[in-house]
Amino acid sequence: MPNVFLVGAGPGDPGLLTLRAKEIIETCDVMIYDYLANADFLKWCRPDCEILYVGKKGGDHTLPQDKINELIVDKARSGKTICRLKGGDPYVFGRGGEEAEELVEAGIDFEVVPGITAGVAAAAYAGIPVTHRDHTTSVCFITGHEDPTKGESGHNWAVYGQSSSTLVFYMGVGNLPMIAENLMRNGRAADTPVALVRWGTRCNQQSFVSTLENVAADAAERGFKAPSIIIVGGVCSLHDKLGWFEKKPLLGQGVVVTRAREQASGLVEILRGHGACVYEFPTIAVEHLDDYAEVETAILQLARYQWVVFTSVNGVKFFWEQLSAIGLDSRIFGGMQIAAIGPATADELKARGIIPDFVPDKYVAEHVVEGLLALGIQGQDVLIPRARVAREVLPEELKKAGCRVTVLPVYETRLVQQSGEEITAALDKGAIQYVTFTSSSTVENFFELVPAETLRRYPDVRLASIGPVTSATLARFGFTPSIEPGDYTIPGLVDALVGSVAPDKG
Ligand code: SAH
Repeated sequence: MPNVFLVGAGPGDPGLLTLRAKEIIETCDVMIYDYLANADFLKWCRPDCEILYVGKKGGDHTLPQDKINELIVDKARSGKTICRLKGGDPYVFGRGGEEAEELVEAGIDFEVVPGITAGVAAAAYAGIPVTHRDHTTSVCFITGHEDPTKGESGHNWAVYGQSSSTLVFYMGVGNLPMIAENLMRNGRAADTPVALVRWGTRCNQQSFVSTLENVAADAAERGFKAPSIIIVGGVCSLHDKLGWFEKKPLLGQGVVVTRAREQASGLVEILRGHGACVYEFPTIAVEHLDDYAEVETAILQLARYQWVVFTSVNGVKFFWEQLSAIGLDSRIFGGMQIAAIGPATADELKARGIIPDFVPDKYVAEHVVEGLLALGIQGQDVLIPRARVAREVLPEELKKAGCRVTVLPVYETRLVQQSGEEITAALDKGAIQYVTFTSSSTVENFFELVPAETLRRYPDVRLASIGPVTSATLARFGFTPSIEPGDYTIPGLVDALVGSVAPDKG
């Protein structure tokens, strides 16, 4: 079995990574990655994986190529599985060929996992098909940054100038005036459309279309820098018509998600789907209790209750975990009545074969009590499996209504101790437009990590709160959220956020 994998990480959008690449990232012993390989992928590495960065920093290589080659060979000789992760495709201007040759010389077996190259992906995300029957019959991938040690240009400008091929230049922004000049001098019309796509497929993608004649000045005026792809040819005229990615309502908007990592994925995915640059800043962690004796006793005496009220997705998950641990399943609920405080909790129950008898229209404790009373919960025995520390409104109100309530902690939440530096730095750069809060504890914990005075310095940053209880907690810190959905759910929160962006984007 080969133990070195030269893996393409694709152009940046995590969804454009291949299944094979993900598999190798998840299982490798050593990860050696580059500047353009999306660092988000590292979260899939095993906890004991050795992670080495060999990419560029401020224009310099942290490690020269021969040292990278040596490093790969050394690590491979130790018998470990190496993932050599490179942006785009490893064999398209990635020096993957050189690394592979070194491996062959060292007698080390390897495999290549192709990736989606930026020249195709960034173009597609900018509405540019690299070939199109009306415009061109071929496409060339060209380096815009020739080896400076080579005396003469290796490019045959006459061929590029006279062909109708779509030309895709990598690493060319710095040489844009020279590239445009050479193409015009060799026969390409001055009004040939040219597109530049920067950070293609990522939430911060930017692009524009110009002409050979004007593109260098336009790029300079816009301050367009690397990493950008330059596309030359008639296909670029389709940019406006076929562009889709840059129309996403939250494209380029920095949104902080404060939810526990275990619960955040849904919210993060929807926000990314709308184009947002998501900053995951989990302020709470969801954890097991030290001791489940009380839960086990409650499960074994479950028949005492007429109602079980689940108040969170985690309540369902942790309750079922204990149920399975003692060899029982959903049948234990028999004819009991079951309530879910919101649609996500209801879905979690349905996934376990339970259709809740009650799901309120409004997802706060007060409404739940009203609804439950209407169903005749008064005077009955009620079990509420939930977090150790949570709001007491629901149990209190049910007690007032004459229920015998047992609150059963099945998990706990705690403050994630982390530095607020990354968020503060992003605020400083103007990279954050929204901070989302999905519960009162996310508010309290956020301000433990990022002081309220810090956030106050950025009055343009909008706060999004899931509902009135969370908003009241924000008010205690002196903030008024500018976004609060009508229904207090995650999808509602995202809709409200999307609705709040400038109308020209919405
Ligand atoms: N192996 C990579 C290319 C590496 S060369 C691939 O197949 O995509 C580095 C150049 O690729 C950058 O200078 C830039 O021109 C281009 N590039 C890489 N990622 C890009 C992106 N997301 N958007 C635009 N250009 C990108």
